[in-house]
Amino acid sequence: KTADVPGVPSAFVDQLHEQGIEELYPPQAEAVEAGVTDGQSLVASVPTASGKTLVAQLAMLSAVQRGGKALYIVPLRALASEKKAEFEAFEAFGVSVGVTTGNYESDGGWLAEKDIVVATSEKVDSLVRNGAPWLADLTCVVADEVHLIDDRNRGPTLEVTLAKLRQTNPGLQVVALSATVGNAEDIAEWLDAELVDSDWRPIELRKGVHYGQALHFENDSKREVPVRNGEKQTAGLVRDTLSEGGSTLVFVNSRRNAEASARRLGDVVEPFLDSETKETLADLADEIRGVSDAETSDDLADAVAKGAAFHHAGLAREHRQLVEDAFRERKLKVVSATPTLAAGVNTPSRRVVVRDWRRYDGTGMQPLSVLEVHQMMGRAGRPGRDPYGEAVLLANSHEDIEELQERYVDAEPEDVRSKLAVEPAMRTHVLATIASGFARTREGLLSFLEQTLYASQSTEEGRLERVADSVVDYLVQNGFVERDGDELAATNVGYTVSMLYLDPMSAATIIDGLESIAGASEPTTEFEAEETTAGFQTFTRSDEDGVADDGDGEAPAAADAGVEKPTPLGLYQLLSRTPDMYELYLKSGDREEYTEVFYEREAELLGPAPTEYEEDRFEDWLSALKTARMLEDWADEVDEDRITERYDVGPGDLRGKVETAEWLLGATERIAGELDLPGPVTVGVREAKKRVQDGVREELLELVSVREVGRKRARRLYDAGIEDREALRTVDKSVVLAALGDRPKTAETIMQNAGREDPSVEGVDPASEVVADGD
Ligand code: ADP
Repeated sequence: KTADVPGVPSAFVDQLHEQGIEELYPPQAEAVEAGVTDGQSLVASVPTASGKTLVAQLAMLSAVQRGGKALYIVPLRALASEKKAEFEAFEAFGVSVGVTTGNYESDGGWLAEKDIVVATSEKVDSLVRNGAPWLADLTCVVADEVHLIDDRNRGPTLEVTLAKLRQTNPGLQVVALSATVGNAEDIAEWLDAELVDSDWRPIELRKGVHYGQALHFENDSKREVPVRNGEKQTAGLVRDTLSEGGSTLVFVNSRRNAEASARRLGDVVEPFLDSETKETLADLADEIRGVSDAETSDDLADAVAKGAAFHHAGLAREHRQLVEDAFRERKLKVVSATPTLAAGVNTPSRRVVVRDWRRYDGTGMQPLSVLEVHQMMGRAGRPGRDPYGEAVLLANSHEDIEELQERYVDAEPEDVRSKLAVEPAMRTHVLATIASGFARTREGLLSFLEQTLYASQSTEEGRLERVADSVVDYLVQNGFVERDGDELAATNVGYTVSMLYLDPMSAATIIDGLESIAGASEPTTEFEAEETTAGFQTFTRSDEDGVADDGDGEAPAAADAGVEKPTPLGLYQLLSRTPDMYELYLKSGDREEYTEVFYEREAELLGPAPTEYEEDRFEDWLSALKTARMLEDWADEVDEDRITERYDVGPGDLRGKVETAEWLLGATERIAGELDLPGPVTVGVREAKKRVQDGVREELLELVSVREVGRKRARRLYDAGIEDREALRTVDKSVVLAALGDRPKTAETIMQNAGREDPSVEGVDPASEVVADGD
């Protein structure tokens, strides 16, 4: 009984009752028995949607009740807001909740007041690097989806963060929530935690394989699910679910497939919709079109109008949110998704179809892991709403049925293995560990690394030491760390790089590139570039906020003679060469095109270029150039849909690259200041940053700083002769009105935002001589 849970506020128990939660699920009861409400560390390895969150809530609330403070670590930003919303109900009985995601640099001082803080692992890592003092008050830490420690990209951050928090807060309670994995006991041992390892689910999950006209279940039973002539299996399954009033989630292996599948399935769903639902969906489609003017936006809206949608990481964040909400509210009957949706976002569905169980990994089609497929399957069935959940794999042949059953239906999930030894991870985390003073000697570094899962899993004698030593060597060679006997200390630049959250290799690339401008009066050879890199250790921090000045960057003339301002393209290409920016692929035909661009614009590129004979490096250089051209197009005001078409990317990809470029240019600006580079370098960096941030040419920078003025409106205003904020205040209102396509509300808001005293346009007619441009 929930009423029997010791140590949590009774008001919380009341809240649970209101939600209809009367009794603990068996794994939850096991967790309480294991002492999760008494500060005992715990690993809960249970299936998706089996109530892990409540285990975490019990742990956090009991910790707060004892006067402590709790941190809930989520793997995705989207989940941070979802969890915060969930925990906000605690404020009714005086437990305060805060969430922190973006802005890597601040120490989030205001969070010191909160009883419970929700954050992504990246954010927590950066709080640790910034030495946020309130971290010392933590008594309970929850790690959600802890099996992601196995993820090459994000796993190491979570692993290192947990190790650091445990080292600084002796006695810290760690509650790790995991999908069912092969080796939950390893994780428990690493964390000195009790283990709840269970297969229990609140709603029956039937797993099966569809082939021909039938669904074959685990227990050898069969059910007819007809597929019409010329139709795909998924269509038959979706129709079958609809006829029982349920919804279907379809997992596919690529964005393109998700979109194509949604388009086709819309035609299957449409006949099932009543007129009221159709109206609701039409409104939703309009809302989706309003988010962005890219083609994907239209495609999504078209599918949504028919009750189907696609979901993948190329979508704009607002789009993803709208789709998730509408599916949860059952307005949408089908969502075709890439596996991103399986990770965490709470979107249960009557039936889950795992259509593609192979994925292209750069070399060939590889089968998905059992763990991933089980997580997708676990999204089937909403307790209390569906009688059961059904997860279906698709077979192409009779033999396939058995293979799929063995591979996924009957199989145990894989083990979780630490990925800390992956190079960029080690570089980044070793530098951070030294820079934040966590380790001041080689011994200190090693004894910290001993606390990681990696150490507890590596059996090879001396491996950890070898890896650590080679990484420290790299950091010393590149001037990020100074070694004095056994002592290790970060240099100023090393410290800055760690605070900026850059991969040290990115920083080294950026520094080489910037110094090649500064030293450009002589031809740069690779050898010299190396020398300069080593030389910057002698630079000292010039002036704390020398770069923060955002005046218009008048450069002190004398020292800068002969140094040319880098162009945006040159800087974008430099950033695109770093491991922190995912480059665009070179497709067939691209190589020729960008080789040409390369020779045309070679002078703008920073640092020594590889020759055409160094195949791989040259290819990489061209990919970076292609990525840079896309950013340049954006900063040259090319339309979003033209760009997505030209580079064959989704609007979400474009925005992602733009955001990364903004962040890296901000970091570049700081590094340039740290290295005391000539003024024109900093000015060039700042300009390139502002332009990519707003997607405009230089002359529009002032206009876009007015709220509600985006790149398109700014261009129209400018073309109508309104070149700055001042003009918005003084020019004849009819001109503004005409430039904005005769939209009185918009015109008024914008003039008001520009500080115009009387922005009203009542009775004003748009000026006739101004012709607003087409769209
Ligand atoms: P997980 O984190 O394991 O994926 P959740 O914590 O999101 O799963 O739980 C899934 C759903 O089950 C939630 O809607 C939650 O409110 C509900 N739930 C959790 N515990 C109980 C319980 N003891 N009784 C009834 N419903 C519960």
